[in-house]
Amino acid sequence: MNRISPVELTLNLYDAHLHLTDPRFSKNLPDILQTMAAKGIRGCVTNATGEHDWNEVLNLASAYPWVRPAIGVHPWWTASLGQDWYQHWIDLLDSHPGCLIGEIGLDLAMRDPHINKQRLAFRLQIKAAAERQIPASIHCVRAWNELYEDLKPFLPLASGFLLHSFNGPSESVPKWAEAGAYFSISAEGAASLSPSRIHQLRKIPIERLLIETDAPNSPPPDEWTNHPLLDPSTGKRLNHPANLPSVLIWISQILETNPQELASQIASNYHTLFGETAPRDPS
Ligand SMILES: [Zn+2]
Repeated sequence: MNRISPVELTLNLYDAHLHLTDPRFSKNLPDILQTMAAKGIRGCVTNATGEHDWNEVLNLASAYPWVRPAIGVHPWWTASLGQDWYQHWIDLLDSHPGCLIGEIGLDLAMRDPHINKQRLAFRLQIKAAAERQIPASIHCVRAWNELYEDLKPFLPLASGFLLHSFNGPSESVPKWAEAGAYFSISAEGAASLSPSRIHQLRKIPIERLLIETDAPNSPPPDEWTNHPLLDPSTGKRLNHPANLPSVLIWISQILETNPQELASQIASNYHTLFGETAPRDPS
């Protein structure tokens, strides 16, 4: 297969999951957004992680119509939730039509997971997603059985949902697809690609595949990093959202498909799940 450099491609790309309001981007966000636009990124979903960044996410999205907001409580932040978070969240969702739900989910790999608190917050949020028919962006690490159990009363979810940075068991892919799942993939593990990971990625139905950076998290290995970025305060590697074309090239090689055709399919999948986005401001 011919390797096609991302710089040779002009593609319409969509990042299904990232965190533009992460404090590690705060010093150079306008530059980052401009670089994304220059690289053909036509839309993205920026996720909040907890009550502390819901307004920031909504404000950013109102300034950039090609950025879709998602608000929710990430499992890492459920232990520190305040009393009134749920009503505050519902009020914001109801007053911002088009706002998505995320990042929510379950994580049994974190230290002190407080799984009962996680599941309580997740159930409340997924119930609201089902009732309001809003797609949700879901994080799941080592909690696949619990996640399915909590989703089960609402399945299949008519609005669909995203299993972000999907890395669940291959044999569960058909079950999740039947439940309404879309699967988004980042290039984080590109350096250590096992046969089972290849098998898992090839099991994803092509009409349910999305790509993401999860930036500033999950930087891909150096060979898949076109836009190196360091955290100004710690010097650690960050993931620049303009690395998205590399994710497309990487996944198209695994699937042995043409990157342009795959980009069109992914654009169509993005719009099917999240709905139409406003046209990008050419400036
Ligand atoms: Zn995330």
